[in-house]
Amino acid sequence: MDASDLLRSSLLHLSDSSLVRSTIEKAPVSRHVVQRYVPGTDVAHAVQAAAELRATNRQVTIDYLGEDTLDAGQAAHTVDTYVGLLRALKARDLTRFGAAEVSVKLSAVGQALPKDGEKIALDNARRICEIAHEADTTVTLDMEDHTTTDSTLSILAELRKDFPETGAVLQSYLHRTEADCKDLATAGSRVRLCKGAYKEPASVAYQDAEDVDLSYVRCLKILMAGEGYPMIASHDPRLIDIARALASRHGREPDSYEFQMLYGIRPEEQTRIADRGHQMRVYIPFGEEWYGYLMRRMAERPANLAFFLRSLASKG
Ligand SMILES: Cc1cc2nc3c(=O)[nH]c(=O)nc-3n(C[C@H](O)[C@H](O)[C@H](O)COP(=O)(O)OP(=O)(O)OC[C@H]3O[C@@H](n4cnc5c(N)ncnc54)[C@H](O)[C@@H]3O)c2cc1C
Repeated sequence: MDASDLLRSSLLHLSDSSLVRSTIEKAPVSRHVVQRYVPGTDVAHAVQAAAELRATNRQVTIDYLGEDTLDAGQAAHTVDTYVGLLRALKARDLTRFGAAEVSVKLSAVGQALPKDGEKIALDNARRICEIAHEADTTVTLDMEDHTTTDSTLSILAELRKDFPETGAVLQSYLHRTEADCKDLATAGSRVRLCKGAYKEPASVAYQDAEDVDLSYVRCLKILMAGEGYPMIASHDPRLIDIARALASRHGREPDSYEFQMLYGIRPEEQTRIADRGHQMRVYIPFGEEWYGYLMRRMAERPANLAFFLRSLASKG
């Protein structure tokens, strides 16, 4: 394990500490600093961020933060928030041709509930898909830790019977993902490929960053050669170049795949990619539950952590 792996795993552990969490959440300047990665807590903040990104030719996918719901009421609240969000996006004419869509974590809509969790999550996700369909746009199911992969893919398959446009996410750090790419590289199938953000054991996931990248390229080759619609979710310049080369090798038109990046990360590169005629979609997270999301971003990149700590120190 090298120094950055050690830092990453320490940060992921630290993010579980309730003391660290409450200290950061209560720090008076945290909100200000967090805004670089999470534009706000309400639907209005998310819609405003979407409108600003659209003005620079970027598309968006919006995630209401709230993982690991262990209460059916909370899951219902999450669904209501997505419904309100989709209607607000449509009212601002942001959903046209899927320019603004939503990303949903099944754990936030009940997947982890002890009784009938999978069924509740399916029903809730279906409701969000219905409203998205009415608003002329789509839903992508985020992928969470490996214990949920089978359940998430089976809910995806159910949803696609009525809403074939529903997007999937696959994570290149998992050993199984090449096989999943082969299964999902079918006509019309929207598949977001990312490296993966959770701490996973060696029994299921590559531990070495180089191996994760090599797996990413193998998966990308499958998706680009297939009939689906690949969504390349990465800030990694090497992988973005490889994706571009593969798209051109397979004669793909610019509207047959897209690049995706996270809100606040490499914004200049986002506009550069969009300005070069590629589709560029930005993932916007919003909501009160920003802590876990932020910690995963800090774990990925020590420079982000340094920025965060420096901002806390200088403004606190
Ligand atoms: C749109 C989107 C959706 C996602 N959805 C999911 C999901 O559903 N499930 C999941 O597990 N994960 C998801 N992720 C997170 C993903 O798995 C990775 O954890 C995250 O994207 C970091 O991986 P990376 O490919 O950017 O590469 P990294 O290895 O983190 O970074 C590679 C390189 O990118 C550049 N870079 C990265 N960050 C910066 C920065 N701040 N400034 C400048 N350069 C930078 C650097 O050159 C760096 O070396 C998603 C990511 C994106 C972009």
